[in-house]
Amino acid sequence: MKAIGLIGGMSWESSAHYYAAMNRLAMARRGGLDAVPILLHSLDFGPIARLQSEGRWDEAGAILADSARKLEAAGAGVIGLATNTMHIVADAVTAALHVPFIHIADPTAEALLADGVERVGLLGTRFTMEKPFYADRLRGRGLEVLVPDIGITNLNGIIYEELCKGVISEPSRKIYVEAIERLAARGAQAVILGCTEIAMLINDDVSPVPVYDTTALHARALVEAALA
Ligand code: GLU
Repeated sequence: MKAIGLIGGMSWESSAHYYAAMNRLAMARRGGLDAVPILLHSLDFGPIARLQSEGRWDEAGAILADSARKLEAAGAGVIGLATNTMHIVADAVTAALHVPFIHIADPTAEALLADGVERVGLLGTRFTMEKPFYADRLRGRGLEVLVPDIGITNLNGIIYEELCKGVISEPSRKIYVEAIERLAARGAQAVILGCTEIAMLINDDVSPVPVYDTTALHARALVEAALA
């Protein structure tokens, strides 16, 4: 069994969900009180969010690579980065590591393909929806990816101004459900919750098409890798 190293804090709200999900899954798999060791490096999100908005991705990548190195040195045998957006710098993180890195888009693509989904909507921060790093990785796995054609500023703002601060609001839920309805009307058979906080707001009960929660899928892949 390997220890899981999690680069977290982006935001801490979603890292808390990862922590709970990984422990629940590991205990269900192992039985009794047996779980898996987890090393969580929870970064200060403020400076990283400023680097994001200023487009200083190389500097953000260096911070995350340093975190990855520390987790490996502390004994992590598999590493995850607990945010979709910061996978923009996944190459910098993997270059710093000798142990496996589980990219969040990979278990997500695998779950969609296993369910026979061909055309999927992608929700996330504006970086995840507008930059090619995430959709192209999914397209490389054979998926057709649709992103919202309107409302990106609103969807992005809800993540940083509300969800990352633990604020759950009904008007914001409605905005997300409407975005999913528009994606479904354009042919999306399912929607990726491609931001690790969106599941705080949206689940299958309120969505017109099935949702794929990247936090849950990534947490499961990390536990499976740790137990493999
Ligand atoms: N946790 C979010 C994500 O999965 C957004 C916060 C961030 O920019 O890292 O993209």
